[in-house]
Amino acid sequence: MQGVAEILSTKTFYPENIVSLLKASADEEHLIFRKSAEIKEKYVQNKVYFRGLIEFSNLCRKNCNYCGIRRENMKLLRYTLSDEEILTAVRFAYENHYGSVVLQSGELRGRGFINRVSRLLKKINRVSDGKLRVTLSCGEQTYETYRKWYESGAARYLLRIETSNPQLYASIHPNDQLHSFHTRLKCLESLKKAGYQVGTGVMIGLPGQTYEDMANDLLFIKQIDADMVGMGPYIEHKDTPMYNLKDTLYNRKERLRISLRMIALLRIMMKDINIAATTALKAIDPFGREKAIMAGANVIMPNITPAKYREYYLLYEDKPCLDEAAIDCLQCLQMRISTTGHYIAFDEWGDSAHYVRRCNDNKYPIP
Ligand code: SF4
Repeated sequence: MQGVAEILSTKTFYPENIVSLLKASADEEHLIFRKSAEIKEKYVQNKVYFRGLIEFSNLCRKNCNYCGIRRENMKLLRYTLSDEEILTAVRFAYENHYGSVVLQSGELRGRGFINRVSRLLKKINRVSDGKLRVTLSCGEQTYETYRKWYESGAARYLLRIETSNPQLYASIHPNDQLHSFHTRLKCLESLKKAGYQVGTGVMIGLPGQTYEDMANDLLFIKQIDADMVGMGPYIEHKDTPMYNLKDTLYNRKERLRISLRMIALLRIMMKDINIAATTALKAIDPFGREKAIMAGANVIMPNITPAKYREYYLLYEDKPCLDEAAIDCLQCLQMRISTTGHYIAFDEWGDSAHYVRRCNDNKYPIP
């Protein structure tokens, strides 16, 4: 069997190599992190990009078995921000030099929703003088909808695959047409065709997930040539069907450990993509996001949703920063990031260098 140093010196990773690296002992871990840090320094430097996250509605037509805002969670107060509330958050991001915002919601269809998002994108462009990049994360939509939103001003789209194993995917979703692995794959293809910088991601430490699954997740992300990735530990939510399986999970510390290693390996495998240090990491460890930045992440998504709504957008439990005003969140993050030897790239869009490169290579030409 090859050792860690030997595997890291090879150009192509196979599933069994990745499994070995995920399982490597704590004594050898520094070799993985050293390599990812070298690659990060060379390809994306020590910058951290901010994406101001606006969770604008927790209405969702879906019923994913792990998610706290699933349709059948009747304990949850449902909300949708007004245009003015969204634009106030956008102005905050603009005035504080964030460079970029993310509009996220549960998955809704219907002409009213689609047209509203289009109108919002145009308004965001106006209030920010065209200087803010906008990412959308509104679930599975048709190619036509994705294209309409792209033409209205969205440049990036996040749609997590959650797991690349179709059987595992089926086990964490209801068994119906609305929750189809195949549809999720098609949507990722459509997003690329529509011209977006495409983001995806997975949950780490799901019930029944193996190291082989996680290795294949990394290879899947590479195979679809993602531009951006957000992945983090699965954290259970008590008002979901999967909560019953909580005693079968790796403990939270272990989920954090594997997540950091996954981030480091992804940085080694996909040198110039954007990788988010997700909030779920902080739910386990107060310094989880800083550790992710050291491991290879280069994006942070400070929550700028009005504080009074945040407790109603709990995809998982123990989500941090629920009661912090956006300005407190900003000050806290500035201080924390400086401790990692990185700096916040204010006023920069922070487009994925990978996306820029693939457009230059004409691999997926902008339509
Ligand atoms: S994971 Fe997304 S699509 Fe599934 S229930 Fe939650 S918000 Fe809806």
